[in-house]
Amino acid sequence: MSTVDVTIIGGGPVGLFGAFYAGLRGMSVRIIDSLPDLGGQLTALYPEKYVYDMPGFPEVLAKDLAASLVQQAGRFGPDIVLGRVAETLERRGDEMVVITGDGQEWPTRTVVISAGAGAFSPTKIGVDREDHFEHKGLTYGVRDKAMFKGKKCVVVGGGDSAFDWALALHPDAASMMLVHRNDRFRAHDETVKQLEQTDCEFALFTVVKELHGEDHITGVTLEDTQTKECRHVECDAVIVNIGFKSSLGPLKDWGLTIEKNQIVVDHLFQTNLPGVFSVGDVCTFDGKLKLIATGVGEAATAVCVAKTLIDPSAKLFPGHSSDMGLGS
Ligand SMILES: Cc1cc2nc3c(=O)[nH]c(=O)nc-3n(C[C@H](O)[C@H](O)[C@H](O)COP(=O)(O)OP(=O)(O)OC[C@H]3O[C@@H](n4cnc5c(N)ncnc54)[C@H](O)[C@@H]3O)c2cc1C
Repeated sequence: MSTVDVTIIGGGPVGLFGAFYAGLRGMSVRIIDSLPDLGGQLTALYPEKYVYDMPGFPEVLAKDLAASLVQQAGRFGPDIVLGRVAETLERRGDEMVVITGDGQEWPTRTVVISAGAGAFSPTKIGVDREDHFEHKGLTYGVRDKAMFKGKKCVVVGGGDSAFDWALALHPDAASMMLVHRNDRFRAHDETVKQLEQTDCEFALFTVVKELHGEDHITGVTLEDTQTKECRHVECDAVIVNIGFKSSLGPLKDWGLTIEKNQIVVDHLFQTNLPGVFSVGDVCTFDGKLKLIATGVGEAATAVCVAKTLIDPSAKLFPGHSSDMGLGS
C-alpha cells in the first residue's frame, strides 16, 4: 500500500468533507470506514429524514446530503476502503501505519479521526447459526439489488430501511414478506402506504426464531410474540434491518486522551498523539457542538494544520476555492 498524506478514519459527513479539503490542499487521502457505504449516520441512521440546518440547503434529505458529500469528496480521487475497522495505530519512524481488522496495513503521514460514535456494526437478530448464514442468504441491508431477483424474500424490521428495501426489492422478488416485532412502524407514512398497496405479506407481532438450511437459507421459523405460535416459511433471502450498534472499541487502545467516550483535542483539533487529529462527533473541547455544520469546519482546519506538518513551507490558510480554477 502507498503511503498517503492523511488517513481519515470514518467516512461520515465530517470525514468526507475532510477528504475533500485535504484534496483541495493537494494531499493524498485515504478514507477507511467499517460500513459498506459512505455517509456515516446520514446513511446508516436516518437516510429518509430531512435536515434543515445545512448552509445553503433550506432542506435536504439525509441520503441526498450524503450523496453530495461523497461526490464532493471524490473530486480529488481519494483511496476509499470500506467494510474494514481501523483497529491499531503504530508509529514507524516518521510514518504511521493504520492496521485494519483483517491485518491489512495502511501507511500514512497523518491521521484524522472522524469516527462519530465509533464503528457501526449491524444489530443481529440473535438466533442460532446467524453467523453461519451471513452472505448465504442472510444479509444486513442490501448491497446489490440484483442478488434478490426471483428470490423469496423475508425482510426483518419496521423502520425506514426495512420498508425502503421491501419496496425496492418487491417488483423483482418472487415473494416479499415483512416481519416486525410489533405493529408500530418507524418508517415514513408514505413508504408504509406504498408497501401496503403491494402484495407484500406483513407478519406483525412476529420474530424470527430459527433459520433453516445447510449451505444456504431455505426457510425460517417465525414466532407470534403474543400467542407464541410458530410457523415455517420457505424463503431464499432474509434481509435484516433492525439498526446499528456503535463502539469506539479499538480506538480506546491507541493512547489517545479520552473523556466520556470522546477524544480530547486542542484548538487546532490535534490530539495528544503527534500527527493525529480528531474532528466531528467523536472529539471534544470546550464549546463542542455535535453538528454537521460545525464538524465540517473542524475537518477543514484539521487538514490544513496537517498540511503544514507534512510541508512546513505550506501556509495554514488554504486560499479561496473560488480562485483555484476548479471549474468542472
Ligand atoms: C436521527 C438523527 C438526526 C440528526 N439530525 C441532524 C441534523 O438535522 N443536523 C445536524 O447537524 N446533525 C444531525 N444529526 C447529527 C449528525 O448526524 C452527526 O453530528 C454527524 O453524523 C457526525 O458526523 P461524523 O462524520 O463526525 O460521524 P458519523 O456520521 O457518526 O460517521 C462516523 C463514521 O466513522 C466510522 N467509524 C468509526 N470508527 C471506525 C473505525 N475504528 N474504523 C472504521 N470506521 C470507523 C463509522 O462506521 C461511521 O461511518 C442527527 C443525528 C441523528 C442520529
